[in-house]
Parts: sequence; structure tokens; C-alpha cells
Amino acid sequence: MLGRDGSPGRPALPREGLNGRSIPRAVRPPSVSGLGLDSERARHHLVDQLVVAHRLHDALAAAMREFPRHRFVDPGLASRAYEDVALPIGHQQTISRPSTVAMMLDRLVRFMSLEKRGRSRVLEIGTGCGYQAGLLSRLFGEVYSLERVKDLHLAAKRNLRGLKCFNLRMVFADGQEGLAAAAPFDAIIASACGELVPQPWMEQLAPGGILLTPVTSGSTQVLRQFVRLALDQFETTTLDEVRFVPLLQGTR
Ligand code: SAH
Repeated sequence: MLGRDGSPGRPALPREGLNGRSIPRAVRPPSVSGLGLDSERARHHLVDQLVVAHRLHDALAAAMREFPRHRFVDPGLASRAYEDVALPIGHQQTISRPSTVAMMLDRLVRFMSLEKRGRSRVLEIGTGCGYQAGLLSRLFGEVYSLERVKDLHLAAKRNLRGLKCFNLRMVFADGQEGLAAAAPFDAIIASACGELVPQPWMEQLAPGGILLTPVTSGSTQVLRQFVRLALDQFETTTLDEVRFVPLLQGTR
């Protein structure tokens, strides 16, 4: 379930993911030897496995089949881009594992009708290398993504160049403040885990909106879902155990 490591000659990979819901090791795709047809085949193989394991919504599966994850990782790790693992992206951060991204985005996609998705406004906290931000832009109307590390914010912009994400705005900022200027949001999704859910996220959620975020729970982390039923009424659901990088303060 966690990032694979340890086989001789391979770098140790960061740990992140959903307890017990990853793709079984035996059916993980083979490594990619080139970045053309091979990577496309490996990507389809990975998405096939995710569709079976998580019954992904068709729109999400289509976006994941199209989106070139290998372009978001270091060229030295591109051959592993279609394994279900988190990979390092520098600055002690990771690109989330595909099954984690899939499970969270599936929840958001199913939460809204197609028509609502088209005119929705979504906020992501933790752009990282920009992979999930790009997928969000394929699925929702207007997407904002915040990143606190300047180098990663700039790298994400480079990675997404040419991928036609015209409805995506990436902002270099401390995501704990949310983005009041673009609020309210129909969905907020956090890719970094704090002890508490920052108040601005709750405030910037539209009535009827959904917030998905990891939170620390004792020595582990859980994914928590908040649905804003009314101005001062939230429905809270605790979902799977997860593993994300920490939500940190300030910018750098
Ligand atoms: N969404 C990414 C996941 C990146 S990892 C993907 O597609 O794989 C999480 C990211 O959250 C890191 O880049 C980290 O720098 C960022 N982060 C942590 N605390 C943050 C904060 N307070 N504001 C904005 N970004 C933050």
C-alpha cells in the first residue's frame, strides 16, 4: 500500500497512500523503457488497474489516460511514472501516488453533476509538480492551485506548459489562507496534511460545497470530507487512512 522501496539498485521511494487499497504488486505495470508509445501503454495499463480497483468515474479515467504523468517527474524517474507510487519532486515533496489522486478526484467528480462541474470553481492546496492541478482543470470549470515553495510553483508552470490548461490559475502563496479573492469554492482539495483544518478553507467553501483534506489523527492521518450543508452547518465524514506530506506555514 505504501511507496515501494528497497529492491537492490532502486532508490528508496517516499511513502504515501491509502491503506490497503493500492494496486496489488503483481499487476503493477512494467517499467517504461521509452517515453513514446511505451509510456502511453504503461499509462493505459495503470488506469485500467485503477478503474478495476476503484471503479473510477469515466470522465476521470479519460483524463488520467490522457494526462502524461511522466512529464511531471524528474527524467531519471520517468520510467517509474506509471507505477502506483509517490515519487520525489525535490524540496522533500512528492507527486502523489496515482491511486490517491484517483480516489480523491473520483469523490469530487461524483459529488457534482456534469452541468455543475462545468461551472464549478475548485481550489487545490499544494500544487507540487502540477499533476493533480492539471487533472482538475480537465474535470472542473475554474481551478486555482496554491503552492508555498516558489521553485515547485515555477516547475509546475513549466510542466503544464502546452497541456492546454487554460482554466487553471497557479498561485505562489501559503495555502492555509485559502484564496479569498476567488472564493467561494464548490470544492477544495488539500494535498498536504495539518493537525487542524484551517478556518479559511471552511469559510471559503460555498454552501453545498465539498472539502477533502487529510488531517492528523494520533500517529496517523485520515482523509476527512466536509460538506457545507448551510452557512454554519457542515457534515463531516472520516474516510480512509492516508499518508501525505505536512502542511507547512509561510512561503519559501
Ligand atoms: N498535488 C500534488 C501533490 C504535491 S505534494 C500532486 O499532484 O502530486 C504537496 C504539496 O503541498 C507540496 O508541494 C508542498 O510544498 C505543498 N504545501 C505544503 N504546505 C503548503 C501550504 N501551506 N500552502 C501551499 N502548499 C503547501
